[in-house]
Amino acid sequence: MAQHAFSLSGKLALVTGGGTGIGLGISRALIQAGAKVVITGRREAILQEAVEELGEHSSYLVFDITNTSAIPQVLAEINEKYGSIDILVNNAGIHLKKFSKDTTDEEFAGILQTNLLSVFSLTRECARKMMEQKEGSIIFIGSMAGIFGIDRVAAYGTSKAALTGLMNNLVTEYSPYNVRVNTIAPGWIESPMFLNAINSDPARKEKIINRIAMPGFGTTEDIGNAAVFLSSKAARYVTGVVLPVDGGAVVNF
Ligand code: NDP
Repeated sequence: MAQHAFSLSGKLALVTGGGTGIGLGISRALIQAGAKVVITGRREAILQEAVEELGEHSSYLVFDITNTSAIPQVLAEINEKYGSIDILVNNAGIHLKKFSKDTTDEEFAGILQTNLLSVFSLTRECARKMMEQKEGSIIFIGSMAGIFGIDRVAAYGTSKAALTGLMNNLVTEYSPYNVRVNTIAPGWIESPMFLNAINSDPARKEKIINRIAMPGFGTTEDIGNAAVFLSSKAARYVTGVVLPVDGGAVVNF
């Protein structure tokens, strides 16, 4: 019974940025739970490699999410080839590590475009169909930087905090149609991007390790499992939640 509630059999998921790191971990977990997954990103070679690993229940589409005017066409293509989307994971994101005094308006706007505005555009277009279907799960990927202040990530942290505001408001509009919106706030997760960044900054690495209550960094599988739960029937009454998957970092002193 409990196992059945977590099954994603027969569901179609769209995972943006699903070719690498956390998005790849989420795609693996969704497929293991029975879903079919379409992944997107800008680099075709990376997507091809990911689909080879993910297997027959995966497909890819090259798509830059900042190209928002193309979203309806991309969704129409997915609909036609694979069916209607039940699960949207807005995972694609970019990072900027700079003191705010050195961050230009263009850089700040660029982070907001990818991490917030494009997420809104894609969510709006997917949600329209989901509301017609009277079922859907939408997941945002937040961050510790969207929950508390961290130096040198003002633009990134703002984009992630804003996702919570967007989620809260969408919940008020989507819930009557049984479309749920939740956010996973990953702690520090071993993705290639993260390990590159952290290994070049030993002081920050030590600060982070001291912040996490549990030993070690998280894995992309940890985030994938949270995505399975939030997408499944097991979470049918869960919406508007920010779920930290962080080894206790949010509450640890
Ligand atoms: P990656 O850099 O591996 O993943 C980012 C993915 O997003 C890539 O696959 C990239 O593909 C895709 N992407 C970026 N920009 C675009 C775009 N314009 N259009 C389409 N795809 C795009 O890093 P992570 O796996 O670590 O990050 C994934 C998410 O998790 C991000 O939202 C990040 O903010 C969040 N996160 C990560 C944490 C960590 O510890 N690793 C902690 C907290 C949050 P391509 O470049 O080919 O387009």
